[in-house]
Amino acid sequence: MSKAWIFVVVNQKGGVGKTTTAVNTAAAMARAGKRVVLVDLDPQGNATMGCGIDKRGLSRSVYQVLLGLETARSVRCATEFGFDLLPANRDLAAAELELVDLADREQRLKQAIDSMADRHDELILIDCPPSLSMLTLNALCAAHGVIIPMQCEYYALEGLSDLVNTIRKVQLNFNPQLSMLGLLRVMFDARITLAQQVSEQLAEHFGDKVFQTVIPRNVRLAEAPSHGMPGIVFDPSSRGAKAYTSFGAELLERLSTL
Ligand code: ADP
Ligand code: MG
Repeated sequence: MSKAWIFVVVNQKGGVGKTTTAVNTAAAMARAGKRVVLVDLDPQGNATMGCGIDKRGLSRSVYQVLLGLETARSVRCATEFGFDLLPANRDLAAAELELVDLADREQRLKQAIDSMADRHDELILIDCPPSLSMLTLNALCAAHGVIIPMQCEYYALEGLSDLVNTIRKVQLNFNPQLSMLGLLRVMFDARITLAQQVSEQLAEHFGDKVFQTVIPRNVRLAEAPSHGMPGIVFDPSSRGAKAYTSFGAELLERLSTL
């Protein structure tokens, strides 16, 4: 087993709250006193920008790490929020193609993280791009646990079966230690009847694989990235910030039972 706990925030749809979840959960667990590293695995670099690090100014990033041109250690940098970051920018878009010719192409991130993560008290969170691509496959091969953020709308359930099937295939073929930690209901609006119905269906169907914490739709979470900050730092008293703080605690508790 790898020495650190590695989690992946994944959903092949865009705009479902992956990056917001990854950045705020990293910040929440750092606040709770944990050593946390956030890995930005999306060429859009939203997690990088959301941690106050300018993706355009990077001389090296996750891209070089995946191709074996830099070590994870040399790319890892500190954020102002108590956790470290492996940053990304649009360079990473090229990795998809360039990896195809390399040996162990789906294990590149795992190898890089294993070489960096020599402390067993470290928690590593990976923010994925909106696709079931080679990048996402690398994340699933590296991880112990999967966190799936989803909005409680009708189409959320449709994509979910594809995602669950992909996770099963990765478990079978590459990474038997991978487990589904849970579904996180995000951008929740209790005034919408359908949202409540879908939320209940999820809880019924997936039982304790649905996190108890529900993240509300909250404008402060959406404003924070433009200030280069996690929402829980930008406005700690907002409903969104409190929810992600609770989620961080719930995740740590779930870990202690594994
Ligand atoms: P993804 O990484 O899955 O593409 P993001 O985390 O970037 O999704 O979220 C998509 C958009 O929704 C962003 O503009 C983000 O600020 C906003 N957003 C995410 N979560 C919330 C929330 N709980 N309340 C309000 N806006 C949110
Ligand atoms: Mg994102």
